Amino acid sequence: MNLTFDFKSINRHFPPKPISISTEEKAYWRNKIKVLLKKKNAVIIAHYYTDPDIQSLAEETGGCVADSLEMARFGSMHSAPNLLVAGVRFMGETAKILSPEKTVLMSTLNAECSLDLGCPINEFSRFCDMHADRTVVVYANTSVAVKGRADWIVTSSIAVKLIEYLDSIGKKIIWAPDRHLGNYIQKKTGADILSWQGACIVHEEFKIQALKRMKKLYPKAAVLAHPESPQGIIDLANIVGSTSQLIQAAKSLSHPQLIIATDQGIFYKMQKVVPDKKLLAAPTMGEGATCRSCAHCPWMAMNNLKDMANGLEHGGNAHEVHVDAALCKAALLPLNRMLSFTQSLTMR
Ligand code: SF4
Repeated sequence: MNLTFDFKSINRHFPPKPISISTEEKAYWRNKIKVLLKKKNAVIIAHYYTDPDIQSLAEETGGCVADSLEMARFGSMHSAPNLLVAGVRFMGETAKILSPEKTVLMSTLNAECSLDLGCPINEFSRFCDMHADRTVVVYANTSVAVKGRADWIVTSSIAVKLIEYLDSIGKKIIWAPDRHLGNYIQKKTGADILSWQGACIVHEEFKIQALKRMKKLYPKAAVLAHPESPQGIIDLANIVGSTSQLIQAAKSLSHPQLIIATDQGIFYKMQKVVPDKKLLAAPTMGEGATCRSCAHCPWMAMNNLKDMANGLEHGGNAHEVHVDAALCKAALLPLNRMLSFTQSLTMR
């Protein structure tokens, strides 16, 4: 069974680089989307890693910019019957699972995720069958079928807490698909975890030696890292956390400079929270650099204003998310468990 992350097989899914558009074109598409949102009674749900133009449009129009957990929650709680999801496909699918009665539209349905691609359902299901005594916990960055095979779904913001809880009631865990996050959780909790070996192509690119040199260059800077980053990056970080937790940390830390080891899309929201601090991208170049992502997810970059407007206006197979009803039902159970668990944490 192949649990090893295979860059070559992921590479062929890489989309071409996005084409940039003029300021006038941007203004045109932004206005068009605003009109369509009202006409269609729709709301934008955008991830932190999307283009700043998309994030600001979501904010201006009463939508949300958030991590994948909050995106899912917002979509299911909002009264709009049409959700325009800016992110990658699994985020649109998660919105559809939680709100099957709503129409979920995306800029493109071809926005993949290397974690999802690296965890095919048949292999993963065989792996689970081989370790049937273990509780299956999967990250939100997975297909609907993999979600349906899981006992629990988590996002990075609650992963440590959930595994702590499962460990406390004596459960042994299968974790999938991100190996670095699995490793991080195992170290934090001491739980018995058997981890799938997937990786995020963005976080996999951060370079340890280059970050050490950068820290010397900026001695007053704090390093903020997402736990999908390799262990060597985590070891150098002052703060490790989900996208929302990193934004929160940027605010509470007193350091005047922050080195950020996650997708650069987060800079838009983070800089708004800390306008006086200097944000620096953690290095992706250095020994062994391949720079597949240059700290920006190529699939998140597929989201653009023009395609969002077209999706909203015309819908159809290129834009509307459909999820098989049986798979949807299977995935809803662990998804709801995640939401209930998250709610119990906030009530403590
Ligand atoms: S940044 Fe990484 S985890 Fe997020 S969608 Fe892109 S490939 Fe997937």
